[in-house]
Amino acid sequence: MVRRTRRWRARSAFALKKVSKQATMHFSMIDKRSTGVFRIIPVCAFADNFIWLIHDGRHAVAVDVGDATPLLERLDALNLTLSAVLCTHHHADHVGGNAALVARCPAPVYGPENERIPARTVPLRGGETLVLPGLEIPCRVLAVPGHTLGHLAYAIETPEGTALFCGDALFSAGCGRIFEGTAAMMWQSLSALATLPETTRIYCGHEYTLSNLRFARAVEPDNAALIAREAAVRALREAGKPSVPSTLAEERATNPFLRVDVPAVQAAVRAYSGLPCVTAPETFAVLRTWRDDFIDTVMY
Ligand SMILES: [Zn+2]
Repeated sequence: MVRRTRRWRARSAFALKKVSKQATMHFSMIDKRSTGVFRIIPVCAFADNFIWLIHDGRHAVAVDVGDATPLLERLDALNLTLSAVLCTHHHADHVGGNAALVARCPAPVYGPENERIPARTVPLRGGETLVLPGLEIPCRVLAVPGHTLGHLAYAIETPEGTALFCGDALFSAGCGRIFEGTAAMMWQSLSALATLPETTRIYCGHEYTLSNLRFARAVEPDNAALIAREAAVRALREAGKPSVPSTLAEERATNPFLRVDVPAVQAAVRAYSGLPCVTAPETFAVLRTWRDDFIDTVMY
């Protein structure tokens, strides 16, 4: 059983009320049960989705609960109390487990205000700063439209540094497909994420790194950092380990979608398309189209 206390319910109700009333707030109620040590662990769902679980040994915040079953099993196994659910966007493989999860473990559900998010209790638009219930750590909400129009990312400040939960906006070595927004919108979103500290750990929504790296090498065959990263990621995957998180420094060195201002990437895009792409946004738009055509069978 997942344990919940009267104290937790009272604090959760308080947190929900406050968040609904104002976008920016800080809670001073520190739960004495917190161990002060934060862990971020992946819970695998479907073929390649990550549900991320941030916990301190007592409380847990879950990100993008596509399926409640594996998450409930993990909460039970670790004897954790769910204190919040964060949603990046409305796709079912990211929010399909919300209703079943909160039916079993009531907790506030945060998500984009302009998307249909099951069981959402706290609508967000980006720009807010929260303190996560239970964990009592700061979380900045960033609007990163492009994959969907309301897509959000959550930058959480742990004692080990910034952890970015970015769903299907920025991927390890790639980026999400542009389903609802425009290429210019997506480029702007990724550019904003690229300004975070280089040590930021990138927790994206899917294990797509090897596939993304194959495309990245087609764009930049001579990038030594990319060649080294592909070998390292292959070793991780062969050992059955996730390739996520990466760091923003790694992404800036190897992710072609964060490198559209690099002459070699621009030259590759011009050679592929025959178009006179000059600016970074123009290069980004064609690069994303190239990626769509590179592996048509994988949906992002
Ligand atoms: Zn998606």
